[in-house]
Amino acid sequence: MKTIGLIGGMSWESSLEYYRIINETVKLKLGGFHSAECLMYSVDFEKIEVLQHQNKWDELANIMVQAAEKLKNGGADFIVICTNTMHKLASDIEDRVGIKVLHIAEVTGEKIIQRGIRKVGLLGTKFTMEQDFYKKILKEKYHINVVIPDANEREGIHEIIYNELCKGIINDASKEKYQKIISHLALNGAEGIVLGCTEIPLLIKQEDVKIPVFDTTTIHAVSAVEFAMK
Ligand code: GLU
Repeated sequence: MKTIGLIGGMSWESSLEYYRIINETVKLKLGGFHSAECLMYSVDFEKIEVLQHQNKWDELANIMVQAAEKLKNGGADFIVICTNTMHKLASDIEDRVGIKVLHIAEVTGEKIIQRGIRKVGLLGTKFTMEQDFYKKILKEKYHINVVIPDANEREGIHEIIYNELCKGIINDASKEKYQKIISHLALNGAEGIVLGCTEIPLLIKQEDVKIPVFDTTTIHAVSAVEFAMK
């Protein structure tokens, strides 16, 4: 089994989920006392969040590259970035460190196609919803149409991610806000919803929504195990 190198801490609330799901998946597949061979480099999210909102992506790229280098030197065979947003820098890691990054949008795109879904609504940080680095993969590589919430709704989703979910705050009123936005996306033709932020599955579960949801944390973590076992 390959050694999984996780870049975590963005936030640690979701990194915990990765660690749990990865080990549960190994146990399910191999039984006994089997667990995952993995390393995690967990960053200080305060620093990351400030640089993101200052649009200092070059500095963020350096931090991601350094984390990936540490994981590679520690024996990781490939990298799992435990956040959708920081996949903006996935190719910086691959090019500068020379290690494979298992891309969260690619493994999610595969799952969407398998369900026969052609149009999805995307929820995530404003970076993920508004910039092209994530949607482009779904659109160009998997031919999936992507709709996003309106500007006001995007602002609300983003605020809840940073002010609540990344701080471990799970709030019923916020869940209702997300559910309302999801119904708008469904009215706009979305056949499924990508929970494209690794903390959103802490708030929204399949049973809260009428159309299929794609929990990127679970999809990514399970795919990491499958890739490690290949
Ligand atoms: N974990 C989140 C994501 O999946 C947001 C935190 C971050 O900015 O990395 O996008």
